[in-house]
Amino acid sequence: ALKAGIVGLPNVGKSTLFNAITQAGAESANYPFCTIDPNVGVVEVPDERLDKLVELVQPNKTVPTAFEFVDIAGLVRGASKGEGLGNKFLAHIREVDAIVHVVRCFVDENVTHVDGKVNPISDIQTINLELILADLESVEKRIERSRKNIKGGDKKYAQEVEVLERVKEALYLDQPARSLELSDDERQIVRDLHLLTLKPVLYAANVGEDEVATAEENPYVKQVREFAAAENAEVVPISAKVEAEIAELEGEDKDMFLEELGLQESGLNRLIKAAYKLLGLYTYFTAGVQEVRAWTIRKGTKAPGAAGVIHTDFERGFIRAEVVAYTDLVAAGSMNGAKERGQLRLEGKEYLVQDGDVMHFRFNV
Ligand code: GDP
Repeated sequence: ALKAGIVGLPNVGKSTLFNAITQAGAESANYPFCTIDPNVGVVEVPDERLDKLVELVQPNKTVPTAFEFVDIAGLVRGASKGEGLGNKFLAHIREVDAIVHVVRCFVDENVTHVDGKVNPISDIQTINLELILADLESVEKRIERSRKNIKGGDKKYAQEVEVLERVKEALYLDQPARSLELSDDERQIVRDLHLLTLKPVLYAANVGEDEVATAEENPYVKQVREFAAAENAEVVPISAKVEAEIAELEGEDKDMFLEELGLQESGLNRLIKAAYKLLGLYTYFTAGVQEVRAWTIRKGTKAPGAAGVIHTDFERGFIRAEVVAYTDLVAAGSMNGAKERGQLRLEGKEYLVQDGDVMHFRFNV
């Protein structure tokens, strides 16, 4: 399963947020393939389209799609030099697909700030510097190795060194590897190094509990927005403390509390949606009377691969997929209606599954 790692300096609200995530947690019986680990929280991805399909089909069971948040606590200044447990944490970051960077934007004299005062940009730079230093080490090592290989006369290594020198230069200028414009070939070379600063990042700006409705007016949030815009990263303002309270409520109580706070939906839902988008994920649906269910694929997955998410047998024995776009199905009002309108398509092995496709697979056992 795809994972987003939660990082940030100590005392910024990571554990509070992570507790809200596990509290709100998914029905684990539905997701047997997810990791069981105290540092991993499985969340269901909120999706209005799934609710609409349930209205249409009235199934016995509904299962949203899910993904995982990993709590990566303990990243501090000096991590890249292997101080404390630093290196171990960097290794954990290497294993995630995207990074949720929690930044402190709340002021509370009772909560110590590791650097003595609230300063989100300096906090972000502290963490980013550790990731950049770790990447510099990887890049320099690889350049050295590839240089030796060039002497053997292989052109491939010359190109590699050229790209990596550009990455190195960017890192020296404090720019993350993801900020570089790379061709597909170059990206492939860089991807091989599993750099930390190549991963997509989302900043979770943790505001005070009395600021949830007016988070955008918080000057620290504004600073984070400006900083993130320059590196093409997303920002989600959130109050970890409030989210922890919301996560304990359900149904009407939850709706009432959100209304009191002046919120349309919980910050956690916004965070989950933003992380899902950041990971470049698509959702397709299966919609039978037994079960309506959402499934996650990466953008660019073909029909057999999408079938394989349900079961490897579906992929192996794939024959065809019956597909209707979500919007067509809803407009037609039913599967039969869509069929009459000629919107139920038969697609083969090369079909690129689209976000919102409603699919039924035919396969050989
Ligand atoms: P971590 O070290 O990043 O995991 O931070 P924690 O989640 O343990 O939070 C550190 C302290 O900050 C705890 O005492 C939290 O209750 C407090 N805290 C977290 N979010 C907020 C917030 O939005 N407002 C206030 N006032 N305190 C918060």
